[in-house]
Amino acid sequence: MTTLAVEDLEVRYGQITALRDVDLTVGDDEMVAVVGPNGAGKSTLANTVSGFLPYDGRISYRGEDIAGLSTQALVRRGLIHCTESRDLFGYLSVEDNLTLGAYAKSDARTGLDAVYELFPRLEERRDQPARTMSGGEQQMLAIGRALMGDPDLLVLDEPTLGLAPVVLDDISDGLERIRDDGVAVLLCEQDVTFALRHADRVYLLENGQVQRDGDPDLLRDDQYVREVYLGS
Ligand code: ATP
Repeated sequence: MTTLAVEDLEVRYGQITALRDVDLTVGDDEMVAVVGPNGAGKSTLANTVSGFLPYDGRISYRGEDIAGLSTQALVRRGLIHCTESRDLFGYLSVEDNLTLGAYAKSDARTGLDAVYELFPRLEERRDQPARTMSGGEQQMLAIGRALMGDPDLLVLDEPTLGLAPVVLDDISDGLERIRDDGVAVLLCEQDVTFALRHADRVYLLENGQVQRDGDPDLLRDDQYVREVYLGS
């Protein structure tokens, strides 16, 4: 089954066309990465799929056309976006941030246990104000809070931005477990190596258009991808 299907997507900011002719799918239980350089349109794609931006074309989520659905309606249906800026409540504790992620759900406790099991460091720091957490811990918290909303599709915008390699392992382990638990993941990611290592399929976006797509091995062997993105 297909969790997300994007067809012939076009998004404009005034005179600027940020996305054009974009076709993309995310299957159930699949982690799909969208990679590309600065300005390629990754955040625009994440924001559009999550209901923040007007668009032309068609986006369907679990078989339902999302045109006209608000972001809140999408969240209630389990389409949850973890933004590039993370949007944490800095003066609230880790646990309060997590609990807020479950505002549309009746049982926050089950979610908390699952998040703490996934990222034990969050449980160790449950009473710590979010703003005092390290960058990597804040990213875990942002992902954890998104999980509290019980997603069927998790949209992640640049989860590795600015993180040290040692923290990336915790994040990537977490993402793979989330996918293995049956959550579809759309990973918008500038780090091509990270995306190729962890995603099931990858789309390369340049100037708002899909230039390549396929499984990681295919892209790793692609001469253009190797020269421009992998430095070999
Ligand atoms: P980055 O990795 O730097 O965040 P990106 O791949 O996420 O880049 P977008 O942020 O989606 O790219 O930007 C795509 C294009 O749309 C860029 O040319 C950008 O300048 C433009 N753009 C993005 N947001 C706006 C906006 N609010 N108004 C006008 N143009 C915008």
